[in-house]
Amino acid sequence: MQKVFSCNNYEVNLEALISELESLKPKRVLIHAPDGLKHIYTCISSFLSSLYSIEVYYSTSPGYGACDIPIEEAEVLDADLIVHIGHEEYPLAEKSSWRKRVIYLPVFYMGLLDSSLKSELTGFLYGFNAKTITVSSTITDLYFKEEISRVLHSNGFRVLSVEKPVLGCMYSHVVALDNIVDAHVIIAGGLFHALGLALVSAKPVVAVDPYMKRVWDASSEAGRILRKRLYQLFRVKESAGSKMGLIIGARPGQYRPRLVESIERQALLRGYRVYKISSSYLSLERLIAIDASLNLDFYVVSSCPRLPIDDLAEFHKPVLTPGEFWMLISSSEKYVYPW
Ligand code: SF4
Repeated sequence: MQKVFSCNNYEVNLEALISELESLKPKRVLIHAPDGLKHIYTCISSFLSSLYSIEVYYSTSPGYGACDIPIEEAEVLDADLIVHIGHEEYPLAEKSSWRKRVIYLPVFYMGLLDSSLKSELTGFLYGFNAKTITVSSTITDLYFKEEISRVLHSNGFRVLSVEKPVLGCMYSHVVALDNIVDAHVIIAGGLFHALGLALVSAKPVVAVDPYMKRVWDASSEAGRILRKRLYQLFRVKESAGSKMGLIIGARPGQYRPRLVESIERQALLRGYRVYKISSSYLSLERLIAIDASLNLDFYVVSSCPRLPIDDLAEFHKPVLTPGEFWMLISSSEKYVYPW
């Protein structure tokens, strides 16, 4: 039986799914993917229904990461299995088992590196006088990363190819190499992953977007964001306000009880009054609504550390990540991310 497929320029390996289907024999399956990968839903489902007698449901939920699986939809639909496309299991979940079985189905972009992207990238690296570099990527861009690593190696760079993929809240394995490299190259679509790495690394970060065919300097953009983050922290330090909202994630992988408990304990020790707030999908609109009711002085988000940075930076009161909260209470000057 063929186990590796190509779906709209993505390679999909169905081996783990096939063995799960043969042992679990599910009747109903819920398929879920980030919005950018929902276009391969029907490719996967046509395989499922051609070989197995399965009722397939398609989730509209966004899927911002492997932390964000629609377990509650599978409950309501009485689905036996969730097939999550695009990520491996979330490694930072405090709770590791759900009432529903989840199979993670990473997919791999099969686009090719063209010569103009290659010369733009080497131009950036020469500009930073970089000779030794890491090359890392998201899981979807693993093949592209391998190709770039080969090309840079054959152009005389000393390349440390990072096997473990990055997540928007996990760069420590790349940053750990800061002191032995001159720069980092990261392969990922959009701004999100590259900005995260540039925010926490002391070395220049050059980003390659294989989809937009663009090379860009993530460090200068991250410098602008970092100044804004430090200003938020300064506002909390300078204010006399003691009412703190602690946002607790209700998405499966974003519920972090140990982190919540430790933030709350430290906040109480320092005289803050803590209001615990639950949220499935925190947005500016949701924050405005809860703030209109509770009228707190500042917020700390324990669910996804990117929300304060990417989505809630325009809120009129400071919204901190857990790492920024530790900076607040320890008076540390060094930027801490994510917790
Ligand atoms: S950055 Fe946020 S959305 Fe992405 S994996 Fe981490 S917690 Fe999930």
